[in-house]
Amino acid sequence: MPPDALCDLCGATSLAQVYRPERSTRGLKIYLCRHCGLVQSLPRIDRTAARHQAAVSQGADWGNVRYGKGFRTQIALDALARHADLEAPLRLLDVGSNRGSFTKAFLELAPDAAVTAIEPDERFAQSSAGLPRTELIQARIENVKLPDAGFDIVHSCHTIEHLAHPFAALKDHARVLKNRGLLVLDAPNLALLGSDDILEEWFIDKHLYHFSDATLAYMIEAAGFEIVQYPDPADAINLLFVARKNGAPKSAITPDPDEVANSEALIAGYVAMRAVNRAALSAAAREIESLKPAKVALWGAGRLFDALVSTGGFDPAMLSLLIDAHLAQHMSQRHGMVLSTPQALAKTPVDVIVVMSRGFAAEIAGQIRDIAPGAKIILYSELLARARLAQAA
Ligand SMILES: [Zn+2]
Repeated sequence: MPPDALCDLCGATSLAQVYRPERSTRGLKIYLCRHCGLVQSLPRIDRTAARHQAAVSQGADWGNVRYGKGFRTQIALDALARHADLEAPLRLLDVGSNRGSFTKAFLELAPDAAVTAIEPDERFAQSSAGLPRTELIQARIENVKLPDAGFDIVHSCHTIEHLAHPFAALKDHARVLKNRGLLVLDAPNLALLGSDDILEEWFIDKHLYHFSDATLAYMIEAAGFEIVQYPDPADAINLLFVARKNGAPKSAITPDPDEVANSEALIAGYVAMRAVNRAALSAAAREIESLKPAKVALWGAGRLFDALVSTGGFDPAMLSLLIDAHLAQHMSQRHGMVLSTPQALAKTPVDVIVVMSRGFAAEIAGQIRDIAPGAKIILYSELLARARLAQAA
């Protein structure tokens, strides 16, 4: 462990290495704080590394093609509508505004509101340039000094886990909020490690913190907030909190041996389940290949597809179409197959569509029923479950 590494939340010197991610370009290791239970990656800061080419692998180097954030806009707006008067002249700080999807949707809903949008990445920041009632600051949030008590709302979606010091950032969010101001905070959920269809490396290089509902709740409360809306316990992918500024930050965090034990068990289960699922991938690949002579499309060319090819030995040349609505905008091919948008299904009809997605499986299946109502759908989770049984037999 680097000598200066203290737990970012409780400040204890009790970080213990619990895992080493596969294919980390930064040599990151995963540590568990044996005092408060917060899971964190070390070393924390690497601002000098050149930006890598867009990588879509199953390993820790994934993450330069950002997606998913836009899908969280509606749920954040619904939460805000419950806790704030959107007709009021609100001042909102959007931390990590990305392509501006939240800022734009919020301004439409709140006619007298104004937004300060912060986004360090110039490729995305420019999407918010020139928006009405919007001030764009192209910088990292840690380097921006905003006045005290200037905002009614701070919105931060899938940003906190990227920061070197999230606790300091949350305390600063409290500082820039007016008294009783609202924080809407969304982050990836450590609970996903417990999924029985986990396959890809979850501990990616871009994420330095790995929050559970408990550790993120501690951090929010200790930063000077009162939580008014907790995450949906049925959502293993995201943690959405709404909290109100409520007094001064606390420093002492009580030990939580249960949380420490939970995190440890979750990571051990993840390692074991991933090994089982990776071993089953060749059976999954053979099932898809056995569908011939039916015409087969595969929808979802991201990390699960990468694992199917790289680990399962799947030959994508047997596919009639490889579809990915998002990745098709960023790259032309994956593993030698041309990437298509869903619209290609109109020109190239298929008999079967394999959906290689976990988080968006239901949404993609819904789109398939609209675009290609005759096609049989095979979901990744079902394919993998059958492959595990075949492997065990
Ligand atoms: Zn700690």
